[in-house]
Amino acid sequence: MLSEKLLNALNDQVNYEFESAHYYLALAAYCADQDLDGFATFFVVQAEEERFHAMKFYNYINEMDGRVLLTTMKEPKNEFDSVVDVFEYALNHEKSVTKRIYNLMDLANEEREHATISVLKWFIDEQVEEEASMKSIIKKLKRLGDNSHGIFMLDQELGQRTFTPPVK
Ligand code: MG
Repeated sequence: MLSEKLLNALNDQVNYEFESAHYYLALAAYCADQDLDGFATFFVVQAEEERFHAMKFYNYINEMDGRVLLTTMKEPKNEFDSVVDVFEYALNHEKSVTKRIYNLMDLANEEREHATISVLKWFIDEQVEEEASMKSIIKKLKRLGDNSHGIFMLDQELGQRTFTPPVK
C-alpha cells in the first residue's frame, strides 16, 4: 500500500508525463510547419514515449491498488525562434523531468518503498538517455549553423526514428 503522499506524487507524475507528450506534439507541429518533417517525426515519437512513461506510472499505481486521477493540462508553448530553440526547450523540459524523478526517488527512499524505488530506477536511466539525445542534437545543430544541406541531412536522419516500447 502506497502512502497518500507518495500516491499523490506518483499521480502528479502521470499527469506530468501526459503533459510532456502534449508539449512534444506542439514541438512536432512547429517543425512540420517549418517543412522539417524529420524533426517533426522525431518529436511525434518522443510524444509516444512520454505517453508510454505516463502509462508505466499509471499501471504501477493501479497495481498498487491506488487510484489514478487525471487533471487538466497547461497550454503548450507553440512558438519558437528556431529549431535550436526547440531542442533547447526540449532539453530544459527533460532536465525538469529528471529533477522530478529524483524528488520521487528521495520520497520513495524516505518511505523505504522498495517496489517504487525499483520502478523509479528505470526512469533514472531513461532520463540519462533523454538528456543525452537532446544535447547531442543541439551540438549538431549548432555546428551546422545555417548550412541548409547539413540541416536537410539531419532532418532525414531524425525522421528514421520509430517508437519501440521497451521490453522492460
Ligand atoms: Mg518522460
